[in-house]
Amino acid sequence: MMGPSHALSGAAVWLAGSWALDTFAGYPQSPLTIAIGTAVCAGSALLPDLDLSGRVTANKGGATVAHTFGVVSLFLAEVIEKFSLGVYELTRGRKDPARVNGHRTLTHTLPFTALVGWGTTALCTAFGKWAVLGILFLTIGLALRGLFEHWAKRAGWLVVTLVSAGTALLAFRNLDGHRGYPMLGLAVGVGCLTHLLGDLITRAGVPILWPLSRKHRRWRMIGLPDSIAIRAGGTAEIVVLRGAFIAVALMAAAALVGPDLIRFFHAAD
Ligand SMILES: [Zn+2]
Repeated sequence: MMGPSHALSGAAVWLAGSWALDTFAGYPQSPLTIAIGTAVCAGSALLPDLDLSGRVTANKGGATVAHTFGVVSLFLAEVIEKFSLGVYELTRGRKDPARVNGHRTLTHTLPFTALVGWGTTALCTAFGKWAVLGILFLTIGLALRGLFEHWAKRAGWLVVTLVSAGTALLAFRNLDGHRGYPMLGLAVGVGCLTHLLGDLITRAGVPILWPLSRKHRRWRMIGLPDSIAIRAGGTAEIVVLRGAFIAVALMAAAALVGPDLIRFFHAAD
């Protein structure tokens, strides 16, 4: 799937999950916490594609997400791609094909998802507010790039960076500490996982079973068969999937904050 679809799917999953937690487990969150979690999850749903490098010196190529913070993120993507390729080479089975590029390898696995989710919580617990601020800045930037694709392209990376920094600061100052930190890790993990599921339904698939070895292969690409798989950037993705994500996100958001809003306006009467 393409960047904006990934970001939308992350937002939809987080909102629907928050609604389910509230309704079935009696775990309510404030509208602000829901908004922050949604942004972090939407941004993190783009994280795995930071392994698609472009040409740093020419500031070209790479995934949408690699352009979020200009050449800085493009360079980061280059590093992640080469590192992923290194891990691929080190762990590849006898039957795994040779690769020249690390895209859709390490960052598209379940251990990576678990590691970044756990790592986020660990960082926040160890370094407190500075880690939280950094994570909010990074993920909100990615979310802006993904959810407001055209605006982000027109505005350019500098504006996106400044808006992310401002929003992160605002969110951070109002985030409830001990409840917010584990929530951040969960939002990052769920975002990455949603990305994997999105790629799973496209033709190329993802190596979701790594590092399990089967028939001398550790990096088997798992995806839907060609006949029913979604073509990246095709009509089914742009119209049907994105429409469904938007519908789910809006319904969940309405169910979550609707009652609060109604009460708010009644009280104002
Ligand atoms: Zn991907």
